[in-house]
Amino acid sequence: TKILAIESSCDETSAAVIENGTQQLSNVVASQIKSHMRFGGVVPEIASRHHVEQITQIVDTAMEEADCTWDMIDAIAVTQGPGLVGALLIGITAAKTLAFAHHKPLIPVNHMAGHIYANQLVQPMEFPLLSLVVSGGHTELVYMPADGEFEVIGETRDDAVGEAYDKIGRVLDLPYPGGKKIDEMAQEGEDVYDYPRAMITEENYDFSFSGLKSAVINHLHNAEQRGEQLEPQHIAASFQAAAVDVLVEKTLRALKEYPVKQLLVAGGVAANSGLRHDLKQRMATEAPDVALYFPPLSLCGDNAAMIGAAAYHLYGQKVYADLDLDAKPGLLLG
Ligand code: ATP
Ligand code: MG
Ligand code: FE
Repeated sequence: TKILAIESSCDETSAAVIENGTQQLSNVVASQIKSHMRFGGVVPEIASRHHVEQITQIVDTAMEEADCTWDMIDAIAVTQGPGLVGALLIGITAAKTLAFAHHKPLIPVNHMAGHIYANQLVQPMEFPLLSLVVSGGHTELVYMPADGEFEVIGETRDDAVGEAYDKIGRVLDLPYPGGKKIDEMAQEGEDVYDYPRAMITEENYDFSFSGLKSAVINHLHNAEQRGEQLEPQHIAASFQAAAVDVLVEKTLRALKEYPVKQLLVAGGVAANSGLRHDLKQRMATEAPDVALYFPPLSLCGDNAAMIGAAAYHLYGQKVYADLDLDAKPGLLLG
């Protein structure tokens, strides 16, 4: 089964051809980061305009790189949400048009499910499993009893962890998005500042990162007012240590209550070196029977391959959409 997948929920225009939900025949990703950088964040109107300009070419390239003609494609999958409404609409309109023109079923995919299924492009998913979803807009612990079934057991009550990274990056004058750069700086610094670890001992699976974000930003501002020079590497290392501590602690707590076969980390922040290191270390001693997986770095951020991977199960279930499919900017998992 070959699925052409389209992703346009934020600032990446992407198309991919995926075979049987596991094999990438192509995965073309056009990032718009350069266009949004000077604004310090994603500007929705600019994102939409870029998607319109790029989408046809990206789909053509994905088909070419996969060596595919339209008669070889079984279905067209597209991100329905969550994301920016104008950005989602471009991908959805393209997918509908192609589905109509080539007589293919249209499969709507949840972007967050896509992030989780990015792992399926590397090794088979085994259920039940738990996923720690950490991205620019989400921080969630998701229990999956079976393929296609999602139960959000905990989530952030305010900021997503990626959002906290990017806002601190802005205050540190780093180019948008700051997450990757802060991770690099953290590796050169030391955890010398004792930043808060909100909700770490609370008996639930929820998170809160706005207090941590404010603590770091206030620390920087206060030092600046006193004319003090703080080492940005130490700020980065201390912030990362606090954020990772909470993510790891809550995940291990969930693993104690939910007996699962795998822990799949997903989303842009799954690229984080501190998170990778600490989760590996603590799971080796505290959850040795659970297999831990991270997607390769190229599949942590937004891409269409993960949408094609998630669409495979839906194709089997014939979860098809009509041509009146609408964008759902606030679409929830499960
Ligand atoms: P969502 O998936 O919730 O809709 P999004 O699609 O914007 O949001 P992703 O593309 O999954 O988010 O991830 C982008 C986020 O990942 C950004 O906040 C970015 O700073 C962060 N990020 C990328 N690499 C790293 C890293 N090494 N360490 C920490 N954060 C990182
Ligand atoms: Mg992006
Ligand atoms: Fe994403």
